[in-house]
Amino acid sequence: MPGLRHALRGVGLALLLALPAAALAWLADVGAEGGTDDAVRVQVSAAGAVDGRLPFRSTGEGAITARVAFTLPEGDGDRWVLWLSRDALDEVRAWAPGWAPPAQHFHAAPDDAFPAGYAFPLPAEWRGAHVVQLSLAGGVRAAPRPRIISDRTMLRIVARDRAIASAIYAAMLTLAIAALALYAAVRDRAFLWFALYACTGLLLAAAMNGHLVAVLPRSLLAAAGAGGFWATMLVFAGVGVRTVLRYAVAGESEALGAWRLLPWAYVAAAVVALLAPHAWAAWIGWLASLGWIAAVSGSFVLVYAAARRGVSMAVAMLLLLGLVGFAGGAHELMQSGRLPDNAWTRYGYQCALVLFSVVLYVGLCSRVGAVRQRLDDEAQARRASEQRLRREQVRGDLASQLQAALRDTDDGAVASTAFGLLADAAQRLLGCGSAAVLVEAYLGDPGLRLHGTDPASAVGRSAMAERGGIREAALAGTPVVLRLGDGARGGDGAGADHVVVPLAARAGGWGALVVRLPLQCVPDQAELAALDGIARLVVLHAQEAHAAAQLRRTAELDSLTCTLNRHSLDRVAADAFAARQGTASPLSVLFIDLDWFKPINDTHGHACGDHCLRVVAQALCGQLRPGDVVGRYGGEEFLVLLPGSDAAAARVLAERLRRTIEGLSIEWEGRRIRVTASFGLAGMREQDTGLASLLARADKALYQAKREGRNCVRAASAYAE
Ligand code: GH3
Ligand code: MG
Ligand code: MG
Repeated sequence: MPGLRHALRGVGLALLLALPAAALAWLADVGAEGGTDDAVRVQVSAAGAVDGRLPFRSTGEGAITARVAFTLPEGDGDRWVLWLSRDALDEVRAWAPGWAPPAQHFHAAPDDAFPAGYAFPLPAEWRGAHVVQLSLAGGVRAAPRPRIISDRTMLRIVARDRAIASAIYAAMLTLAIAALALYAAVRDRAFLWFALYACTGLLLAAAMNGHLVAVLPRSLLAAAGAGGFWATMLVFAGVGVRTVLRYAVAGESEALGAWRLLPWAYVAAAVVALLAPHAWAAWIGWLASLGWIAAVSGSFVLVYAAARRGVSMAVAMLLLLGLVGFAGGAHELMQSGRLPDNAWTRYGYQCALVLFSVVLYVGLCSRVGAVRQRLDDEAQARRASEQRLRREQVRGDLASQLQAALRDTDDGAVASTAFGLLADAAQRLLGCGSAAVLVEAYLGDPGLRLHGTDPASAVGRSAMAERGGIREAALAGTPVVLRLGDGARGGDGAGADHVVVPLAARAGGWGALVVRLPLQCVPDQAELAALDGIARLVVLHAQEAHAAAQLRRTAELDSLTCTLNRHSLDRVAADAFAARQGTASPLSVLFIDLDWFKPINDTHGHACGDHCLRVVAQALCGQLRPGDVVGRYGGEEFLVLLPGSDAAAARVLAERLRRTIEGLSIEWEGRRIRVTASFGLAGMREQDTGLASLLARADKALYQAKREGRNCVRAASAYAE
């Protein structure tokens, strides 16, 4: 039953706040009054006097004159004071034969910053029966009771009222400041409304207690008069309703409806109260009373609806609203003389308002917290979907990049191309960090290789230094975040977090994507899964490209000697020739034909001939430099392309190749077979209009070599024939 628990918690909170406050007020009241009856009985006689009180409703009614009769005890040392509580009276005058103290005013600035009442110290020599005349000139609705009290009692009352009023002002001021501070922190206008509410509450309490004289100029207060008093009350009621609205329907502004207009109705009523003629003061007073009753009832309806929706603090607020209504009613009755004038009836509603304000503030905090939480959740969901889109975008881009880059890639470049793209995509996906790919025995390459970064980079250093740990993580098969040192001098030594994403590998090999993370970059599960996804995508593409490259390679090679076949040799030779045409860069070709090969076949069989061809091809490959190309041109004839070599350099190389073949001792079925070869050499000339003429000259040179005894090198003439 969460609803019941909610309600019980609300009741508990309300009691927690109200009970100690009530206990303190009771103690203060008892201390100040010293009991309910004053030591000196007072007889008040005036037209309309009820129970010793002089009720009047407004300025319009003019002054009330009363006769106050009392008997001062004989012989004790007390000084006696004629005392009236600080109701909003324009003028209070007291006199007796031979005694005429100065008149006192609500709007006069007394010496005391927090005056508690109108005090007329009686002459020290007065003892026994006396009669004092009293004249009270109107103000706001009130029912003052003239009392004769000792100066010690007066001091206690002053101390009590001052303590209560100070506590009320301090509480409202603290709430206002706290609300402003929260507004500055979270920028929610609800707190501005609350700060305004607390300030107008403070203003109203000070006006009701007659303490505004301490801070505002007397002329201003006199000009505002009773109208200003009621206007403050109406503005406070309006701002209060607005603040309660912010609390009750926080974040759901469409639910405000007609309620939105209510605070403005209060502001309009306040303007009327300020501008209305003095003669209307009584009516305006009743309008203001009606205003606060409507505000409390309206707030009650709003908070009740909020409580039904389970809004936090609503139950406690309902109870305290009830208390505000009750104490406000008691104050009204006290002012019209129907309830006694004591600390309860005078300050009870102000204390209730403070308690209500505290709970409203707490409620607003949690309400705003809940609304912000919801907005944060929505923002987070939006961010998550944006991130998902970004991840999909990175993946899509990567797929098309892989397709474009790996098409027709050399087998040797597949890994570096694919893993370079993977490292880039991983960085884009995370939006932070630097990535590298470390593989061993991968895609047909037996070595340990670092791709996608410079080995001197931070990620490159840590990947190489911690390859043992990375290998272990890679073989475990799931992406992890590891703390790895960079293992290099000059590193910070503390290491950094790295994401290690395994790459699927054949038995014996392993590979991992390694991302070095900066401090503020912490990938979540979705990002780790996305990294795993792109790693799988890249591995798939790389394996396909590797297989395709191998297939292409077998189609290009001669199956017996594993050198280029005639078809690819023609293509490579044509490309090399075309690339050098019109440039100064040399190109030479060698035709090599094995000598007396037919007899070898005839003597030892074809299989032996094949074996010899393989051994010779291997020997040739062993002697060539990178960039040189050898292929089987046909039968027992090889063609060697030497890009970058002129005829002289080619001749040196040809000689070396000839000696190498001559030096071969080929073993076949227990016998040693020796082979030699004849070499025809031609260097590319300016006059060579096509590859065919270059090859034709080399072929011619080869025949010359055959003719001139075989096992020798002959070069075609460098000049046109
Ligand atoms: P020379 O070139 O010195 O004039 O004598 P030769 O005996 O090598 O003569 P020729 O170049 O005309 O002979 C080519 C021989 O190479 C014919 C054939 O038996 C042999 N031959 C060609 N292709 C292959 C092959 O793929 N395997 C084997 N075992 N022999 C081949
Ligand atoms: Mg031959
Ligand atoms: Mg031949």
